Amino acid sequence: MSENGENVGERSQQRMCGSELTCPDAEPIEVRAHYLLCAVCVRGGCESPPCGKETLQPLLDAMWEYPYVALKLTADLEINRAHYFDVYEGRAENELPENFEQRAADHADRRKDLEVCRLLGIAPNTVLPAFWAYRILFERAATVDGICTSTMPGSADWPQCPHAGAGYFEKIAQASDLNPQEQVALGEPANVPGIWKMLGPRTRQQMDEVKATSAECIANADCLFIRPQHLLCILCTADKQEPLVEDNLVELRKRMEDNPDIPVTITEGCCMVCDPCNVYEPHQNICYPAHIKNQLRDLNILEKLDLAPGATLPARELYARIYERIGSLAEVCGWGDGTNTAPFWAPCGGWQGDHLERAREAGLISGGKADA
Ligand code: SF4
Ligand code: SF4
Ligand code: SF4
Repeated sequence: MSENGENVGERSQQRMCGSELTCPDAEPIEVRAHYLLCAVCVRGGCESPPCGKETLQPLLDAMWEYPYVALKLTADLEINRAHYFDVYEGRAENELPENFEQRAADHADRRKDLEVCRLLGIAPNTVLPAFWAYRILFERAATVDGICTSTMPGSADWPQCPHAGAGYFEKIAQASDLNPQEQVALGEPANVPGIWKMLGPRTRQQMDEVKATSAECIANADCLFIRPQHLLCILCTADKQEPLVEDNLVELRKRMEDNPDIPVTITEGCCMVCDPCNVYEPHQNICYPAHIKNQLRDLNILEKLDLAPGATLPARELYARIYERIGSLAEVCGWGDGTNTAPFWAPCGGWQGDHLERAREAGLISGGKADA
């Protein structure tokens, strides 16, 4: 059975399904930015975070259920808009912001919220998927130093969190993410420290079950469904002969090599490649790390191919068109010039490779050499 109890043998019956957390118009969960860290401390064993475990539990539960849940990360910027004469000289013609005194007294935690926003590179009230909030946080904050520690540890005005030296955060944040091979090697459960201690992981058993059924589906399909980006990724794995644990790139390439006339429908978004992937959420059809950037790449490729989403072509014609109209992977996977404007827009590590040129030269799937 799959994650939500569906029979994974019925892949063709699976459709997007939503809950209050996952439906497209779900409201983001509002979270004080530094609570992201306190949630990590709780996962690391802290029983008494200053905000209380009960404050964090709904956040922890939501992220476990849906790792791509939208989080609105807040920090109190508005309090400093009160004019200093109004605040300190009792002029008070203008009303002070709501709960002013309480918010003013919260200065130590307000500093933490802003420090976390700075680390994430976001303005307060930015909405980020939980996956990206933690991916970025763990890359940039290996410890709570400078956030929960105080340069004035004995100060009543600037107290240090009593858990700042306990290592709860560090135990989780300093473990690296599992790659699919490590996940397979570890077996169950795969929720070891790292991001998958915060977000519900896909288990090895789920990956294996779906791998078998989705590979069978590809072997028997009369038509293949492939996103534009993956038409190119298939070329980057052209030297692989054995199926990969985490995707169906090899199976699809071989099916098209064996039958270059098989129709391929070009989909937007996750496709037949993704079913077994450890970072794929099957019921939302979302790839956690590439949901954003691959959408733009899909459209950029479709534009270059002069095809609309949903177009269907024989595989050989599709690849002949790719070889004719796309000069290099750099054009698509490296945005042309390798610019990296944000973690969720990062170029793929392979963007400077020559897999496309080699496939063009060999006439892979297209059955003949094509000019660039
Ligand atoms: S050390 Fe920081 S993140 Fe951890 S519980 Fe204390 S305030 Fe929260
Ligand atoms: S460079 Fe990366 S994203 Fe681009 S086709 Fe190759 S594997 Fe796919
Ligand atoms: S889910 Fe993402 S990483 Fe996995 S195969 Fe699909 S696009 Fe690639």
